[in-house]
Amino acid sequence: PLAQLKDPGLLRTDALIDGQWLPGASRFAVHDPATGLKLADVANLGAPEAEAAVKAANAAWPAWRARTAKERGALLRKWYDLIVANADDLARIMTAEQGKPFAEAKGEVAYAAGFVEWFAEEGRRIYGETIPTTDGGKRYVVIKQPVGVCAAITPWNFPLGMITRKVAPALAAGCPVVIKPAEQTPLTALAVAELAVRAGIPAGVLNLLSADAEQSIAIGGVLTASPVVRHLSFTGSTEVGRILMKQSADTIKGLSLELGGNAPFIVFDDADLESAVAGAVAAKYRNAGQVCVAANRFYVQEGIYEAFVAKLAEKSRAVKVGNGFEEGITVGPLIEPAAVEKVERHVADAKARGARVLTGGARIAGQFFQPTVLADVTADMLCAREETFGPVASVIKFKDEADVIARANDTIFGLAAYFFSRDVGRVWRVAEALEYGMVGINTGAISTSEVPFGGVKQSGLGREGSRHGIEEYVEMKYLCIGDV
Ligand code: ADP
Repeated sequence: PLAQLKDPGLLRTDALIDGQWLPGASRFAVHDPATGLKLADVANLGAPEAEAAVKAANAAWPAWRARTAKERGALLRKWYDLIVANADDLARIMTAEQGKPFAEAKGEVAYAAGFVEWFAEEGRRIYGETIPTTDGGKRYVVIKQPVGVCAAITPWNFPLGMITRKVAPALAAGCPVVIKPAEQTPLTALAVAELAVRAGIPAGVLNLLSADAEQSIAIGGVLTASPVVRHLSFTGSTEVGRILMKQSADTIKGLSLELGGNAPFIVFDDADLESAVAGAVAAKYRNAGQVCVAANRFYVQEGIYEAFVAKLAEKSRAVKVGNGFEEGITVGPLIEPAAVEKVERHVADAKARGARVLTGGARIAGQFFQPTVLADVTADMLCAREETFGPVASVIKFKDEADVIARANDTIFGLAAYFFSRDVGRVWRVAEALEYGMVGINTGAISTSEVPFGGVKQSGLGREGSRHGIEEYVEMKYLCIGDV
C-alpha cells in the first residue's frame, strides 16, 4: 500500500533529532495488521539517543521561546496547511500500519490537523492577569511562561491525533518537544515530523524517537528521570501511566495523563431508539472498538431493552469487516494478535457466564473479529469490568435511574460516558451524577479540538484540546512590584 503514496518523501524510516534524520544502530519492523506483511524497517533508538534529543530540545528552547506567539503560530499554521494538503498520504500510511478504514484515517487526519490549527491561534491568547493591590506601594502581576522541554509518549490507536494534541499546544506555548510514538505506528508519526520540518519548525524544537517495545521502556526511563524534561504527556494504558507517574516522582515532573476508560453507554426508556442505536454503532465500532472513549458497557432500561438489542444486532450484522483499503469497510483488523486474544477471552468468559451472543462472537481470519453483540451481560463478566478494546457490544439490562448511575460509576475509571434520554430533567440529573470527565448526551461522538478532553479518577490527569489544553505547557509566575 505504501508504494502508492503521492509523495514518497513522506515515508520516513529514520528518527529525527536536532533536525537530523538518524538511522539508529539497529532497526525494527513495522507490520500491516490487515495482512501481517512487513511495511518497513524503522530506526530503533534507545537511551543514549533520548539523552541527545533532550539536550537538543533544551538547546533549541531559548530561541523558540523568544519568538512571539504570533511567529510560532504562523509556523504551526504552515504545518497545519501541509497536513491538510497531504491528508491522503498520511491516511494511507495510517491505514497501512494501524488498520483503520481509509475513510476513518482521513477523518483522523482532519481531527489531528484541527489541533494544530486551534493551538496555532490559541498561543496568542495565553493571557496573564493583574491583581488589585492591598498595599499602595506594590503591584501584583501574573505572567505565563513556557514550562520548558516536554516529552510526549503516544499510543497506536490514534497515531496522528495523539501527537498533534500534545505537540501543537507545547510548540504554541514556546516549549520544544521529544516525541516517542508507539512501536506499532511510527510511520505516521515520522511523516508528520517530516511535514513539521518542511513547515520550518526549527531543528531541535521537534524531535522524534522511534523505538521498539523494549527500547521504548528505556527511552521512557530517560525522559522521566531527566530534570531538563519539565512535563510529560502520555496517552496509553492506566498500567503504563502508573509506571510513568512513579518514575516522574523524583523530578516532580508535570504530568498530563490520558489513560484507560470503561465507558458506560446508558439508554433510558424515553430515548429515541433509532438515534440511540446509531450512537451505539458510532461509539462502539469506530477504530474496531480500539478507542479509550469507546462504549464498553451498554446499560439499557428494561422497557426498551429487547428492541434495542435486536436493532443493534441488526445494524452490527450490516457492518463490513475487512482490509481498510477496500471500499465500504467500516471495521478493520485489530492491532496485533494479543488484542484479538483479549477479545476472544472476553467473549468466551461472557458466554460461559450466561451471556447471549446475538451476532458475531468469533475471530474471522488473521486479526479480524466479527462485530459482536452480547446480551444479558452481568457485572461480574470480564467484558463489563475491563476495556474490551474490540468490536464487542456488551449489553446489560437495568431498571431505574439511581441504580444505573451507581453501576456506571462503580469503576476505577472516569474518562467518557454516554447516555440517551429525551427528558430534560433527567438529562441534567444524569449528566451531573456521572463521575466522568466527558459525557456524550444523545450522541456517540464527542471529541474535537475545541473541547477539553480528559478523565477523572484513574483515567488520568489534565485536559487536552480547548483553551485549557495549552495551560499544561505554561507556568504561572507571580511578580510583586514594589517601590511604586
Ligand atoms: P496500549 O495498551 O494502548 O498499547 P501502552 O500503554 O502499552 O498502550 O503504550 C502506549 C505508549 O507507551 C507506547 O508508545 C508504548 O511504547 C509506551 N510505553 C509502554 N510501556 C512504557 C514504559 N514502561 N515506559 C515508557 N513508555 C512505555
